[in-house]
Amino acid sequence: MIAELGALGALAAAGASARWNWWRPAIDGGMPALMYHKIGEAPPGSRLKKLWVTAADFRGQLQYLKDHGYAAITFSDWRDAEKGLKPLPAKPVLITFDDGYQNNYETAFPLLREFGMKGNVFLVYETMDQYNAWHDPDTEPWTRMLTWSQIKEMQDGGTFEFGSHTMKHRCLTEIPLEEARWELTESKKRLEDKLGRECVGFAYPYGAGAYAPDVRRAALDAGYRFDFGIRQGITRLPWRREDGPIQRLLVRGDDNALDFHLNLTRGKARF
Ligand SMILES: [Zn+2]
Repeated sequence: MIAELGALGALAAAGASARWNWWRPAIDGGMPALMYHKIGEAPPGSRLKKLWVTAADFRGQLQYLKDHGYAAITFSDWRDAEKGLKPLPAKPVLITFDDGYQNNYETAFPLLREFGMKGNVFLVYETMDQYNAWHDPDTEPWTRMLTWSQIKEMQDGGTFEFGSHTMKHRCLTEIPLEEARWELTESKKRLEDKLGRECVGFAYPYGAGAYAPDVRRAALDAGYRFDFGIRQGITRLPWRREDGPIQRLLVRGDDNALDFHLNLTRGKARF
């Protein structure tokens, strides 16, 4: 309650209006899945600045999670809970990163370790050790992707788990279904070979295909246990596949503390 009042104080301080969802009733429980991309300062020329979250903001968000009793889990923690092998913590949260940027290793990894939290990264298999070459460099300057030795180090300490974000980051609704199937099955198989663990989670590039029944069917047929879309919200527990892809909470570079609080408690910060 005190935290709630604090956040509402922040609302007043922000000079906020009804554009924020503070008046919505808080959602009890569920599986909040935060969606990050790059941690650090946006490079000059980036037109995707909102997908860069500074280290200071990321640290503040981890502090919020800690102060509010959240326990960060991995995909396989959730899988094991579904199998009845161990219970979920009282307030679970999934911290997810799309694409697999090297700044996840350089900046997010030490911060997660400092807070004793876990993260999950969706890798684009063929770009590892290289650059985010699917971006037009006029829109987003190329930046280094994780190397395999970094990925192994992140996994070995138990801080990170890795899911698939396809082979090439193509839009799965704009290629023939057979090619989409290959993107889904090949990336899962290669990641499992490389990392020696079940590849449990999948995120659709651009969110494309998450809401196209044939592509989603192909993702589930490929054997992924959890598929993540990009619709904003908190998925209720227990989640069933028929409920649709797991919703996420996009953390934007220009979000303030109130946005973060409302995302986690209301499923959406603003209209
Ligand atoms: Zn992506």
